[in-house]
Amino acid sequence: MSRPTPGPFHAARNGPQPGPRAGAARPADIRCAVCGTSSRQTRFRPMPPEGAPDLDLRPGEPLRSTMAAWLQQCPHCGYVAPEIAHAHPAAIEAVGTAPFRALIADSTHPPLSRRFLAYAYVLEETGALHAAAEATLQAAWAADDARKPDLARAWRGDAVALWRAGPPLDAEQTVRVVDALRRAEAFDDAANTAGQLAASHPPEAVAGVIALEQRLIALEDSGRHTVASALPPPSRRPHASHGSIARRSTGPGLWERLRRLWRRS
Ligand SMILES: [Zn+2]
Repeated sequence: MSRPTPGPFHAARNGPQPGPRAGAARPADIRCAVCGTSSRQTRFRPMPPEGAPDLDLRPGEPLRSTMAAWLQQCPHCGYVAPEIAHAHPAAIEAVGTAPFRALIADSTHPPLSRRFLAYAYVLEETGALHAAAEATLQAAWAADDARKPDLARAWRGDAVALWRAGPPLDAEQTVRVVDALRRAEAFDDAANTAGQLAASHPPEAVAGVIALEQRLIALEDSGRHTVASALPPPSRRPHASHGSIARRSTGPGLWERLRRLWRRS
């Protein structure tokens, strides 16, 4: 397993990835790369999830409940990133703009959502559209937790627009687009996108998830469901977690890797 390096690279998939050195790091004085102000910050070290992830790959518990620790924010300029000691040149510019100032000050949004939206804005300004989509989806997760369904639906729609504005998506990411559309109650778009993906003969695990999505879309079910409801029992492939198959690039793919993460539970 590669060592986790929190940041946009990992945010491009589904937030922090579990690593071997999980647990709370000690707070340290960190100098903001945008304004130079020092503040006490903690670098997040993700722990492996034990529960199954949602269909949009929001991690299971206990990682699920740690979103408040995923991003650092400078108390002076408001810059947001997994590590504010580093900043893309375009990010430095973005923090000074009126839209960024408005995002971090908008008290009608849940505070944690604001932080992810501010990070999404910075990522979008650096041209990292898929990472911006991920951070926007995370803002929706925080809105789910804050019981703000209208905001969560709107931000899922924004996340889909960012995904589609970026480079072509692979089958696994397209499933997440379908899930975001379903949960945003954009059922027609969700059904069309799911149908195109199903017709493209995707890998078995993706096909299983997309079949569940199609059933939920037909029922106009916009609720949360986990990968566990879509995949066959782990016993079906007892050796999948061992041997070379797991390391081949044409191997089991993200869904299989994910399933192994919570098989223990
Ligand atoms: Zn700062």
